[in-house]
Amino acid sequence: MVSKIELNKRQEKIVEIVKGSGPITGEQIADQLNLTRATLRPDLAILTMTGYLEARPRVGYYFTGKKNNQLLTDELKKLKVKDYQSIPIVVSVNVSVYDAICTMFLEDVGTLFVVDDQSILVGVLSRKDLLRTSIGKQELTSIPVNIIMTRMPNITVCRHDDLILDVAHVLIDKQIDALPVVKDTEKGLEVIGRVTKTNMTKILVSLAGN
Ligand code: ADP
Repeated sequence: MVSKIELNKRQEKIVEIVKGSGPITGEQIADQLNLTRATLRPDLAILTMTGYLEARPRVGYYFTGKKNNQLLTDELKKLKVKDYQSIPIVVSVNVSVYDAICTMFLEDVGTLFVVDDQSILVGVLSRKDLLRTSIGKQELTSIPVNIIMTRMPNITVCRHDDLILDVAHVLIDKQIDALPVVKDTEKGLEVIGRVTKTNMTKILVSLAGN
């Protein structure tokens, strides 16, 4: 994994040898280092797994030319929504703003997805949507969320197989905190998950190896 690519001295030497003389066999690398092939095996496995070196059968090892940040980018481009999404918190389109605020506190989330009686996505409620309504003079128990939510078709969504990196770009471009993960059904879009800025922070930390 990317987090483990800090090389030890021997691995650095191997990379130098392969850079200078690749493609080169494991046997030849071992000779140059006065070590046995068996001793080098774990190092070579790590270097190929992390992408520093590539091994071609009957050719040998060669240097991929990839730097740390290139390896990190490669790793990032593999991450998919389905591996990092959280459980979505939804409210019915019939509930009041008061109830939505309670749900937001109880569930400890910053974005609620609003669904109709068939569980189809119809709206999004953010913290500020609810705050904005709360500073008005109206009775919050009598305002339906329907009136204040951002509604379809203006909702930005993502799907299971989308790349996390693409979702991150969308969150930045649209200046929003969360995207619902949806599944296409005959009735409309069913909410099956959410990806938030918190997920992005967790991914960053996991890539750093903590
Ligand atoms: P906050 O309003 O608390 O800063 P956001 O930045 O996420 O939170 O929301 C900004 C606005 O964008 C709100 O009006 C919200 O309803 C809307 N919004 C949030 N998420 C989405 C989304 N996935 N698609 C479309 N609009 C959204």
